[in-house]
Amino acid sequence: METKLIDGKLIARNIRNEIAKEVEQFVQLGNAPPHLTAIIVGNDPASEVYVRNKGRACESVGMTHNTIKLESSISTQDLLDIIKKLNIDESISGILVQLPLPKQIDSSVILAAIDINKDVDGLSNNNLGALLKGEPNFIPATPLGVRELLQRSGVVIPGKNVVVVGRSTLVGKPLSALLSIKSDKGDATVTLAHSATTDLSSVTKTADILIVATGLAEFIDDTMIKEGAVIIDVGINRVDDKNNKNGYKLVGDVNFESVLSKASMVTPVPGGVGPMTIAMVVSNTLRAAKLNS
Ligand code: NAP
Repeated sequence: METKLIDGKLIARNIRNEIAKEVEQFVQLGNAPPHLTAIIVGNDPASEVYVRNKGRACESVGMTHNTIKLESSISTQDLLDIIKKLNIDESISGILVQLPLPKQIDSSVILAAIDINKDVDGLSNNNLGALLKGEPNFIPATPLGVRELLQRSGVVIPGKNVVVVGRSTLVGKPLSALLSIKSDKGDATVTLAHSATTDLSSVTKTADILIVATGLAEFIDDTMIKEGAVIIDVGINRVDDKNNKNGYKLVGDVNFESVLSKASMVTPVPGGVGPMTIAMVVSNTLRAAKLNS
């Protein structure tokens, strides 16, 4: 079987172009450009790269952004006070707190404090609860990006057996809720697998659409998938690579070479879900600006 590559980079670029036109119209109506404020606590290099990329993506569509960098020793209360100020600042459309936060900070309390209509990551209790009820407001960026990738690749979701491997609050859980919503963008029969799943292979082989978010490099191979399955690889893992000048390369949670020829469609890493996550943060920021205007 010829396996089709799902080009997340290209699809994300198309989405950014669509958003850029909408931003232009929004500004022509007399509004300020949508503005994203990101908060980084500490000096995690990966977090800095993610936030920089989100900022660049905002610029590319005519939005403005700024990053607030805070010491890793900050208390939950001090961070809460900053968020409260951002919530009432009318010049800010969307607020994003880059995770993970240092251990002394209670992430749930912080995420819950973000104004529900500025919560562009969709990770506050209110927004996650709304998603679970099937009445989503802001949908977390990676799950939203996965759904968009499927739709724009012509994959029909309703009625399909979807297996999501990994139950994080960031990816797996909201994704399973999103794809099982009663709607023409959902209506899938979703199984949520995790580290305590018995005989994982027998579960993943039932998937018409298999979505993997475990953080385990090249964990899923061809023996674990059904012929013709659509494979969405959320994972981003660094593995040693002496041939690369950085000394490492990025791989997904799926063994890409192995599933080629058995899957009907597959996302590459990099260039699959990653760019979609960023595009969805930008999309959510535009939505926030419209809601708050
Ligand atoms: P996470 O919070 O570490 O969660 C991993 C999940 O995988 C957990 O639910 C865990 O199960 C499950 N798991 C671990 N070992 C397993 C096994 N042997 N069999 C089945 N399930 C197993 O990870 P995450 O935040 O969801 O991220 C997952 C991956 O996606 C990472 O590589 C991350 O870098 C990547 N990511 C990519 C994007 C993007 O934009 N592309 C965005 C976010 C994350 P338990 O719950 O039982 O422990």
